[in-house]
Amino acid sequence: MTPSLSPVICFDLGGSFIKMGVMSDKNVLTLLDQQPIPAQDWRAFCVRVSAMIARHAAEFAADSPVAISTAGIVSPLTGEMFASNIPAFHQRRLAAELGEVLQRKVIVHNDADCFALAEAEAGAGKGHKVVLGAILGSGVGGGLVSDGRLVMGQNGLTGEWGHGPITLTEVDIDGARVPIPRLACPCGQRGCLDTYGGARGMENLHRTLHGESLSSKAIVTGWQQQQARAQQTIQAWLQLVSEPLAYTINITGASCVAVGGGLASVTPLIAALNDAVQRCILRRTPYALVVPGAFAHQGGMTGAALLARRALAPAVRGL
Ligand SMILES: [Zn+2]
Repeated sequence: MTPSLSPVICFDLGGSFIKMGVMSDKNVLTLLDQQPIPAQDWRAFCVRVSAMIARHAAEFAADSPVAISTAGIVSPLTGEMFASNIPAFHQRRLAAELGEVLQRKVIVHNDADCFALAEAEAGAGKGHKVVLGAILGSGVGGGLVSDGRLVMGQNGLTGEWGHGPITLTEVDIDGARVPIPRLACPCGQRGCLDTYGGARGMENLHRTLHGESLSSKAIVTGWQQQQARAQQTIQAWLQLVSEPLAYTINITGASCVAVGGGLASVTPLIAALNDAVQRCILRRTPYALVVPGAFAHQGGMTGAALLARRALAPAVRGL
């Protein structure tokens, strides 16, 4: 069976923007367009996506499929979206309903899953048997790839290490034990790593420790400039994030953790996280286990396009 290598129309759907690209028959992704997303209005969303495709029609074929990477979970049973930050998608079967509108094949996957697949296939995790894509963006997310396949678990959820509880009730800051309260998480649980782990969580942590509101960018800059408060926050952050990540590595057997999201661009922070993680896993690696991903910006669209190719050529592996 010859796999379809027609261009794939790619979208990254976020809370603010629709990003559009095309993946060529040589698997090269080119960005084409970016428009504000009508996040509250399904019909307006469909009109905008249709117009974007029409505007760039010369870039792909009449039967090119559409691959979508977006926040939220796709039910593997019904195709319905849930936990999306785009109200227009609430309980929509996004792939089926948008496919009807566009008269094209549409596949939809969670953006962290798409990132993990892109990293395993062609990024930092290339050649590794088990790859964890760990998102440290405004929140904490993840996806897991094993033997080149995305692991799709219960209700479409896998690799969501951000929405389990932190392991510590206190942290060590300059030799003193400092209690860490368990905060309410937007997911409805209490004490999730997400409340301290991503950029927004780092800001929560700084506020908890010092009663001061600073952006994550300012905290990271302060840490690099050896400002005392920021250094203490990052000390605590490394302890809180490294333990759940170490558990995740021990359980999944991941030999590469590719980090995505905004904090992945802070290379010294990811190196410090790697050091902290290596101290609490069963088998240390002689190489960096936790590394910045190669697809910091287009991982979602790249992974979605690769998944679309597979969906169209299920008998062919490794595309
Ligand atoms: Zn949570």
